[in-house]
Amino acid sequence: MKALVINCGSSSLKYQVLDMTNESVLAKGLVERIGIDGSIITHEKTGQDGKFTHSAPMASHKEAIEHVIRALLDGGHGVVASMDEIGAVGHRVVHAGEKYASSILITDAVMQVLEDCVDLAPLHNPPNILGINACRELMPKTPMVAVFDTAFHQTMPPEAYTYALPYAYYEKYGVRRYGFHGTSHKYVAERAADMLGVNIDDLKIITCHLGNGASVTAIKRGKSIDTSMGLTPLEGLVMGTRSGDLDPSILSYISEKENLPLHKVMDVLNKESGVLGISGVSSDFRDLETAVEEGNERAALAIKVFAHKVRFYIGAYIAIMNGVDAIVFPAGLGENSINMRDIICAEMGSLGIKLDLVKNKVRGKETIISRDDSKVAILLIPTNEELMIARDTYKIVAGK
Ligand code: AMP
Repeated sequence: MKALVINCGSSSLKYQVLDMTNESVLAKGLVERIGIDGSIITHEKTGQDGKFTHSAPMASHKEAIEHVIRALLDGGHGVVASMDEIGAVGHRVVHAGEKYASSILITDAVMQVLEDCVDLAPLHNPPNILGINACRELMPKTPMVAVFDTAFHQTMPPEAYTYALPYAYYEKYGVRRYGFHGTSHKYVAERAADMLGVNIDDLKIITCHLGNGASVTAIKRGKSIDTSMGLTPLEGLVMGTRSGDLDPSILSYISEKENLPLHKVMDVLNKESGVLGISGVSSDFRDLETAVEEGNERAALAIKVFAHKVRFYIGAYIAIMNGVDAIVFPAGLGENSINMRDIICAEMGSLGIKLDLVKNKVRGKETIISRDDSKVAILLIPTNEELMIARDTYKIVAGK
């Protein structure tokens, strides 16, 4: 069976087609600037040199998906003769609240649940819903599966997900920790167990998904028992442009001092904070590292603050799990920044965490990067959320 994986953002859409008989990627691509001037699709067929790009007005997600379908059917760079060859579509969906603890076949009732969760994820769920609706319209006979970022974290115990607020806010409005990046945390934890040759039920793992958005998860016996993101993806680590953890009083203080309404302060926390806010340089760590080389002290401070927070959560999760067997680094920064992994893992020898500085000189490749005498294994594992989505989709649709 061939599976199409769709990941819809507000103005972009990523897709992949996988052959599930051997889990190979047949084609992948990206549509950018949906609904704004300059819409463009970039499509890549595995094994074919170069990328196909096409600019055309795409006012909606439906028009974007029509272009994806055209690219997949194309005689030159396409990978199917008819869309009937696509046995199922897997959709990444950010928030399922407490409704789903695993992936699910999409029905009208499921769509209603996703609509009900829009309040909890007003930035993320609406484009996910648009993408699903467009696919259902254009491929009405093809089964579709929703794979949720929040699902993996539904195993957290109440002491990890309950905020110390009036309990009625949880009961009335669902205010609790949900956690995100679940598909990535689950994938790399399972890969770590495979690479170490140990049953995941016998492992305590801390997964550090460090990208533009970043989160850390404590995984015991294959289950998420705590994670740094909360009701929304704003909580936890310092990120590219998001503040992460703060004293909540800062919101009213800044609102008063800068004469900003609350929603504007929230914009600052989401879009102008994080390492961008501290450095004033960039949200991208490559730019920060260049700035540090040029002597920029605030860029150096931003990197230190980021690493400090990751170390803070690693320590917390070691305490919560009464130990750790493996620490895993996926996502853009975790996979690629030798320097960041070095700073994060420095001086944790008394916890049994010893990074091998030579083995650590690697990017984007599955590798064990701890010293042979390190009690805790440190692993670099590129994440693969698309493969996880395709696997769940195949499992649900084909019963595999
Ligand atoms: P992601 O959100 O997972 O795509 O990660 C994006 C982030 O990864 C970017 O903002 C960069 O800061 C970081 N990144 C990607 N490649 C590198 C690299 N070679 N060195 C340092 N940081 C990198």
